[in-house]
Amino acid sequence: MDSFVYQGQPSRVVFGWGRLDGVAEELDRLGVRRALVLTTPEQQALGERVAALLGERSAGVYAKAKMHVPVEVAEAARAEAARQGADGCIAVGGGSTIGLGKAIALEAGLPILAVPTTYAGSEMTPIYGLTEQRLKTTGRDPRVLPRTVIYDPQLTLSLPVAISACSGMNAMAHAVEALYAQDANPIISLMAEESIRALAQALPAVVADPEHREARRDALYGAWLAGICLGSVGMAIHHKLCHTLGGTFNLPHAPAHAILLPHSAHYNREAAAEPLSRAARALGGSRADEVGPLLHRLNQRLGIPQGLADIGFPAEGPAETARIACDKPYYNPRPFEREAIEALLDRALQGQAPA
Ligand code: NAD
Repeated sequence: MDSFVYQGQPSRVVFGWGRLDGVAEELDRLGVRRALVLTTPEQQALGERVAALLGERSAGVYAKAKMHVPVEVAEAARAEAARQGADGCIAVGGGSTIGLGKAIALEAGLPILAVPTTYAGSEMTPIYGLTEQRLKTTGRDPRVLPRTVIYDPQLTLSLPVAISACSGMNAMAHAVEALYAQDANPIISLMAEESIRALAQALPAVVADPEHREARRDALYGAWLAGICLGSVGMAIHHKLCHTLGGTFNLPHAPAHAILLPHSAHYNREAAAEPLSRAARALGGSRADEVGPLLHRLNQRLGIPQGLADIGFPAEGPAETARIACDKPYYNPRPFEREAIEALLDRALQGQAPA
């Protein structure tokens, strides 16, 4: 920690139960006159509710957001925003919906107000992704960072338990990797540790009672902090492996993150002993080598599928993923070692505890 760079991300955050009701005022603050409301077909009703709160300032509801932002969907949404004379967008939903808002902001420069309803964290990052012919490209651009974010825990009550658990552990992965990032810094590490603590305490309570107000509040708070981590510092081996699991093997994003995290954290237990001891502390332990097993047990408590095999990872997946990862590695505190990575993926495939 002798020297570091900390770059804050300029966004306004409004947090609290029922804060969605103030969405029109927040739009005023942004100077937006007519906003197109973006969401998925599954969340159309919520989109309509937001449009009703906006009254005449709604430019309509565009409920066609799709996972991984296919370019055709992005182009159609941009055309709709232009046709409706929108000068801003409100993205209400998870990472897929916010990703669609980012695709519009990237080309058309319209400001985004995001209302996240999962724990994925995209609303806090200047990272966008677009998929063309099954190939996902990602990039960073300050224009895609939502200007205002309303975190209303009430909107997460409807998030099914299984998705809540995996999405929460997806957030946990951002915080864990932020602790040993190449560009880690003291502010982000504080947020990461607090995020891990909040998520580890709140998620079991959410799973036990999905309508538990305080647990929903604390899970969203932890997810917000994790999103800041993801947007502020680089990620490492865990995210590299997850990109391959999603991109090459088409595994679902959040469950893949959740199942793999104990193993990837364990891989770094010696090379990142000090940062991971902070994660251990936040999880109720004290040593870096406890993090993997503690995360594995947390997954079990949350009822998350045990092995990558349960979500469609094939038997030949570990060797192929290790090869792809080692061809183009990310920064990681421990070098990418093909055999060790294949071994950790094998354990994750079979749902074994990290070793
Ligand atoms: P998602 O947005 O795809 O949502 C999954 C499903 O859950 C959708 O049908 C959605 O409508 C529904 N849903 C969301 N919130 C709900 C709620 N409260 N109640 C009921 N249903 C709800 O899932 P996600 O995990 O949030 O996002 C995943 C996508 O986000 C991936 O494409 C990932 O790459 C991307 N992502 C991007 C970033 C970034 O910084 N750019 C960060 C994290 C994730």
